[in-house]
Amino acid sequence: MKKLNKKPVIFVIFGGTGDLNWRKINPALYNLYLDGWMPDQFSIIGTGRSKLTDKKYRGKLLEGVNKFSRKGKVKKEEWDIFSKKLKYQVADVTLQNAYSDLSAQINSFKKNWKADPLVIFYMSVGPNLFPIIAKNLKKHKLVHNVEHSRIVVEKPFGDDLKSAQALNKLLCNLFDEKQIYRIDHFLGKEAVQNILAFRFANSILEPIWNRNFIEHVQISVTEQLGVGSRGGFYEGAGALRDMMQNHLMQLLCFIAMETPINFRADEVRNRKVDVLRSLRPFSGEDVKKNAVRGQYGPGWIEGQEVPGYREEEGIDNKSNTETFAAMKFFIDNWRWDGVPFYVRTGKRLHQSASVISIQFRDVPHMVFAEDAIDNWRQNRLTISIQPEMSIRLQVQAKKPGLEMSLQTVDMEFNYNEQADLESPGAYETLLLETIEGDQTLFMRGDEIEAAWALLMPILNSWESKANNHFPNYSADSWGPELAEALIARDGYHWFSIPNKKSKK
Ligand code: NAP
Repeated sequence: MKKLNKKPVIFVIFGGTGDLNWRKINPALYNLYLDGWMPDQFSIIGTGRSKLTDKKYRGKLLEGVNKFSRKGKVKKEEWDIFSKKLKYQVADVTLQNAYSDLSAQINSFKKNWKADPLVIFYMSVGPNLFPIIAKNLKKHKLVHNVEHSRIVVEKPFGDDLKSAQALNKLLCNLFDEKQIYRIDHFLGKEAVQNILAFRFANSILEPIWNRNFIEHVQISVTEQLGVGSRGGFYEGAGALRDMMQNHLMQLLCFIAMETPINFRADEVRNRKVDVLRSLRPFSGEDVKKNAVRGQYGPGWIEGQEVPGYREEEGIDNKSNTETFAAMKFFIDNWRWDGVPFYVRTGKRLHQSASVISIQFRDVPHMVFAEDAIDNWRQNRLTISIQPEMSIRLQVQAKKPGLEMSLQTVDMEFNYNEQADLESPGAYETLLLETIEGDQTLFMRGDEIEAAWALLMPILNSWESKANNHFPNYSADSWGPELAEALIARDGYHWFSIPNKKSKK
């Protein structure tokens, strides 16, 4: 059971007027407050250049909570208490007075509370502002107390290896590593954390979690949405930077990591870094053979006509940016030697889902007659992260009846059926961990750099050569044909994504 932190806390949200605070951070803080996780003395200072009063700022955030909180619309009396903790400060983070004003605010809380609060600086602004804010926090002595100050850094953490190294170097010069919380919100998801519980709290799994029993692994993080209003940002990023380097690499690490000695942050992160360092590097030939890129064209999704990527707002009509990426990885260590990991992500695909499938090897000898095994399949473990949160083991069983006939059945743990348990949102988990000072679910600098180092040959190759076949998949498909070929060459196919209607 987690201990409730009683130390007073001040959150400073750089980017208080932004989309992320509106949709995710503030609703998460409100839910933490409702669930009793916030200390009695806390304050949340939002900042931005927009000229807002506290009242206007609170009104905007109320809209966000009503729209996005998993708990639904606020109860007036609860919101009234919480909203008094919300302050707004007009501040341009490129100007010095922003920091002296903040310092004065923090000091006035210290004085009123007669306590030295934990101050968490959340950088929910564009990445170009991370270094400016970091340097000024240091300059204005807002982070000198290592035990009482933390910074949260949003993604993207760099846009290639060099820029990630430079940002890490800067942050590590200014702060102690234990003050730095690099966010990948996937790690806060309940079902992602459950991978660790499932793997390391069950003695039956470890003996079969290796090359002797596992044939191959598939990881799919698919989105039905297109780029929407994020075109300007996405055009300079693409699927590799936006999804593969962080979310998909993290999922792969959770599946492939060795057992940590304990559940402390550095132990878990050491084991993840081991995976990233064991992933076989891509040579020029490998990029051609084992990495596929795609870009969506127009199409129809659920009866609505949708534009192709090049027709979206803010996108170059000859854009070379990939909206889909699929790769085959090998992990060169004893556990995984020879086991392919197929990983794919993309926009405007048939369905939105995040699913990991572990395909076990075939039985060594089939004892049943051919007509008994019509519906037979290899064992498969399917871990659904979203929208469903479930773990499903596909096994064979006898069909009820007089004949010996086999069928595939599921053994399933489904979060949605645990009606008495409400899962917290990813940002709630991560914000609470930040208050508690637990970095297990945050990325360490070397982890981020190892993921960039692995993907750089692909990134360089794709950026240096325009793809003349773009757009190469239509909206509502499962991506380009080449992605099918990538896995079909080895005799496999991408498993269909489970949804509530179909479980095949
Ligand atoms: P956004 O809606 O564009 O908000 C940007 C924020 O930065 C605004 O509050 C803006 O405030 C503030 N800002 C810009 N220049 C400033 C300056 N010179 N001084 C002070 N404040 C300044 O962006 P967002 O979507 O919230 O994203 C914020 C960060 O989170 C980005 O790094 C993004 O990559 C990351 N992120 C966002 C999401 C998401 O779902 N939105 C998801 C993952 C990661 P004013 O305009 O009032 O100055």
